[in-house]
Amino acid sequence: MSGPFLFKISLMKINNKKDLRNYTLEEFQKLITSIGQKPFRAKQLYGWVYKRRAVSIDEMTELSLSLRERLKEDSFFIGSPKLLKQLTSKDGTVKLLLGLPDDVRIECVLIPDEKRLTLCLSSQAGCSLECEFCMTGTMGAGRNLTLSELAGQFIIANDLIEDGLIEGHKRISNIVMMGMGEPFLNYNNVMRFLGVLTDDNGLGIGPRKVTVSTSGIVPKIKMFGEDHGGASLAVSLNATTDEVRSRLMPINDKYPLNKLIAALRAYPLKKREAITIEYVLIKDVNDTPDDARRLVKLLGGIKVKINLIPFNPYPGSVLKRPDERRVFTFQKILLDKKLVAVRRDSRGADVGAACGQLKGEG
Ligand code: SAH
Ligand code: SF4
Repeated sequence: MSGPFLFKISLMKINNKKDLRNYTLEEFQKLITSIGQKPFRAKQLYGWVYKRRAVSIDEMTELSLSLRERLKEDSFFIGSPKLLKQLTSKDGTVKLLLGLPDDVRIECVLIPDEKRLTLCLSSQAGCSLECEFCMTGTMGAGRNLTLSELAGQFIIANDLIEDGLIEGHKRISNIVMMGMGEPFLNYNNVMRFLGVLTDDNGLGIGPRKVTVSTSGIVPKIKMFGEDHGGASLAVSLNATTDEVRSRLMPINDKYPLNKLIAALRAYPLKKREAITIEYVLIKDVNDTPDDARRLVKLLGGIKVKINLIPFNPYPGSVLKRPDERRVFTFQKILLDKKLVAVRRDSRGADVGAACGQLKGEG
C-alpha cells in the first residue's frame, strides 16, 4: 500500500460524518433523504447499526444492494474503538482499556453484583475540571467523545458479555456515566447517545437503568431536567462549604453551593425518583460530624439518596481515606436524620478501575 493511500484511510477514519455510528435516527433520516433513498431505509439502517450491531456495510443484507453500494462509494464505515487491554480485578470488576483512532485512550468498567451488571462509561478522554481527589482530573483537558465512541464502549463491553466474559451475567443491566470526564461538558453527544442507548430499536437499555453523574454544571442540570427521558441524575457534591468544595472541585468557583443546591431543589422528580448525591469521604477534609450535620441541612427537603464513597488513593495524591469509625459515624448522622445514605466501596481498586482511578493507562 502506498503512503498517500494510507494517509487517505487515516483521514477517513477521523471523519466523524462518515462513521455510521455517529448518527441518531433523525440524522439518518436526513442523510437517507439527501442521497435520494426512501425514508423507511433510515430506520432499517439505524436498526442495523445499533440494535443488530453490524460491523460492516456488507452484512446489512436487508438494505437494498444499491444503498449499500452507495454508502461504500461515499466512504461510509462503521467505526469502533479498539480493545487494547482487559483487566479483571479479584472482586470480579473488569476494566477495559480502549484506543481511539487519534491514539487517545479511554476506559470503561464492568461491575457485576448478584443482581446487576453495571457498565461505567467515559464521556470525555481526560477532564478539564481537575478535582483534587480524582486521577482523571490530573490528565487535564482531553476531548469530547463522539456518539460513535460512546456507543462503541457499550458495544465492545456488550459483545464481551455475550461471549461469556463474566460468569452468571448474560447482559448489561445498568449504565452509569461515571467514568472519565464530565458528561455535561459533552452535553450534546451525551444526550444523542442517551437517545440511542434507551431506544428499543437502538441499544435497548431501559431509561430507568441509566444514571448520569455531574460535578455540578448548573445550567446543564436544568436542561437535563427537561431532556433526560427517564434517566437519573447524580451529583458529585463532596463538600458542605464553598471553601472546602472550591479547594476540592475548582468548578465550585463558577457554580457555588447555593446555585447548585437551588438547581437540585428545582429539579423535576416523579414519584419514587430521587437525585443521587455522591460524597467522597476524605480524611480530615470533609469527613467530620460537623460536615455530616451540614450535609443534612444542605439537602433538607430535596429527595436524595446519598452514596458515601471512601476516597480511593492513587499514586501521587496527598489525600487519605478516613478510618472506618469516621465513615460509620458520618453515615449514622445521616441515617438518624432519615436520609437514605449508602456506603459505596469502589470496586476494582487492584486494577485501577475504582472511582477516580481512570487515567487511560491500563
Ligand atoms: N465528572 C463527573 C462524572 C465522573 S463520576 C462527576 O464528577 O460527577 C466520578 C465519581 O467518582 C465522582 O462522583 C467523583 O466524586 C468520584 N471520585 C473521583 N475520584 C475519586 C477517588 N479518588 N475516590 C473515590 N471517588 C472518587
Ligand atoms: Fe472530572 Fe468528575 Fe474527575 Fe472532577 S471527579 S476531575 S469532574 S471526572
